[in-house]
Amino acid sequence: MFLIYVNDLVDDLISLPYLFADDTSLFKVIDPLDSDTTFNQLNRDLSVLSEWALQWRVTFNASKTVYMIISNKTAVPEYPDLYLDGTKLDKVTSHKHLGVTLTHNMKWGVHIDAAISKANKRLNGIRRIRFLITREARILLYKALVLPVLEYGNILYDNCALYLKQRLESVQRQAAIVCTCAFRTAGYAKLLSELGWSSLEDRRKYFRLTTMYKMVNNNVPEYLCNLAPTRVGARVNYNLRNGANLSLVKTNHVKTYNSFVPKTIRDWNNLGPIRNSLSTEGFKTRYKREHFGKPNPLFNFDHKGGNVHHTRLRLGLSHLQEHLYTHNLIDNPVCRNCNLENESITHYLLRCPLYATERAIYLAGLLNVVDANYLAELNDNDMVNIFLFGDPEFPWESNMLLFKMAQTFIVDSKRFADRPYH
Ligand SMILES: [Zn+2]
Repeated sequence: MFLIYVNDLVDDLISLPYLFADDTSLFKVIDPLDSDTTFNQLNRDLSVLSEWALQWRVTFNASKTVYMIISNKTAVPEYPDLYLDGTKLDKVTSHKHLGVTLTHNMKWGVHIDAAISKANKRLNGIRRIRFLITREARILLYKALVLPVLEYGNILYDNCALYLKQRLESVQRQAAIVCTCAFRTAGYAKLLSELGWSSLEDRRKYFRLTTMYKMVNNNVPEYLCNLAPTRVGARVNYNLRNGANLSLVKTNHVKTYNSFVPKTIRDWNNLGPIRNSLSTEGFKTRYKREHFGKPNPLFNFDHKGGNVHHTRLRLGLSHLQEHLYTHNLIDNPVCRNCNLENESITHYLLRCPLYATERAIYLAGLLNVVDANYLAELNDNDMVNIFLFGDPEFPWESNMLLFKMAQTFIVDSKRFADRPYH
């Protein structure tokens, strides 16, 4: 309804109006040599808005109307005031527009700080109930409640400062720890690979390139398509090897260089044949297949609560003496049960005399899944790998059996029973 109202609003304005739902913005570039004219025109447009509002019996709330001067300069000159309905408007240094907080110096700290704080609150909610729900449910909650908060507007703020990017990744790292119930010191790369997740940085690149695909193929509104530059080949009349590349945008400021259009054009030109995908869905599927890891649903499998410790063993950071020693958490890696050698996974699974009964059951079970000849070929390392990861060559059902047996061994050995979750 409101859109029908405001359609004729834009006709009489000198500044560029942006309308979205009941949110109206005016945008004007300040002429450095004649800023008075710029501000006179803005004041004139503001009174056009007032008159229009009067005519159509709607009100623009002057007390809620603000303005912001966007500039890279540290010292911004004094400019004339702006008025709506006789009320002097407040000048602000940041403003939330369609959920993205824009600031006067085009920095992203305010937006990202707010996103991180909201994401952390939600993540804490998941953390509190993490042992009451399955790993699959924890991942689902992260993807539904936390990740969208972290990623809202992410193709815009991708040129933010490095420390902000690192702070975003560290929220995802905490989320990965919550989802897997790993130790707090577990490494980010291992966690990502365990979950089949990509870094937020890589995901931003994927979102940027998907948007560029839509721009190049006219799948987004015109004002966005117009931002995509012409193809290199379109400007010259002979065949170029890089004819499908987009022309680079010349920039002289690092902020612009790393902003959406110039940065994404550089990435686009390095993309290869995937650019010629026939549909957006096709592009997305191919991009994900070529660049993203895949979650292994097997890793969500839980038998008798063995998932957490099975996961920790896979991440190489469990309560085994050798793991704690490698991470500088204790000063002696030797097995405290038998004192024969370091307590590695191999020792725990294949050699420690304390678990002889559980091991016999595990190995007997293994013979039900794989044949004896295959088993005889395996060395200790292969055995550990099957114990931790299953075998991608096996059918799903066999891997489920392997995981069930592995977790039965873990639970029945009671090796981690004294400190289940710390
Ligand atoms: Zn031992």
